[in-house]
Amino acid sequence: MMCASIYDIEEMLQAFVRNGIEYLHIDVMDGVFVPNFMLSNSISKQYREKCNIPLDYHLMVVNPLEKINWFDLRKGDLMSIHLESTDKIKECLDLIHSKGAKAGLAIKPQTPASKIIPYIKKIDFVLVMTVNPGFAGQKLVIETLNKIADMRKLLDENNRKDVMIEVDGNVGFENAKIMREKGANIFVAGTSSVFRKDLSIEEGIHKLREAIK
Ligand code: ZN
Repeated sequence: MMCASIYDIEEMLQAFVRNGIEYLHIDVMDGVFVPNFMLSNSISKQYREKCNIPLDYHLMVVNPLEKINWFDLRKGDLMSIHLESTDKIKECLDLIHSKGAKAGLAIKPQTPASKIIPYIKKIDFVLVMTVNPGFAGQKLVIETLNKIADMRKLLDENNRKDVMIEVDGNVGFENAKIMREKGANIFVAGTSSVFRKDLSIEEGIHKLREAIK
């Protein structure tokens, strides 16, 4: 949602509802874990008032355990914390689960897939960042494509076929197709697809859905 223009929000949300968009992806950045600010807590409350699409919070903050309670996390929502952001990962995942939400671990492009192994029993999804976190409109880190496949293999080998893989960063139509082939299940749409300036929101959604069929 950081890519959405504040002037068109209501219209956009209606288009998302019409097109069965599964989640609204909310990036939360503290200016410490990533070099940008995006503390969209009050805005996400307004999304709730306008539609009932579940929220997908992506916390890019240090000490996430202290901050999870700041959010209006509900059953059906997703929340991911970064593996690199804390040594209290299990506590964070438990707290997210205690709200009835699905808990995920996010990893930066440089973090190997194998780092999730100690937490594999506690996660519902993994968020593989395919660009360096902090800003919209960044270039794909090409090595992360194979990491999606490595992650899928690792999860399957550990009897976690049910764990979904979310991809976040430069999910353009062509990249999305490759990401799908590598095993991604949830696609975060930004300025390279749904929020492209040369397409309407509906056209962007349609093209993205075609790419990942
Ligand atoms: Zn994100």
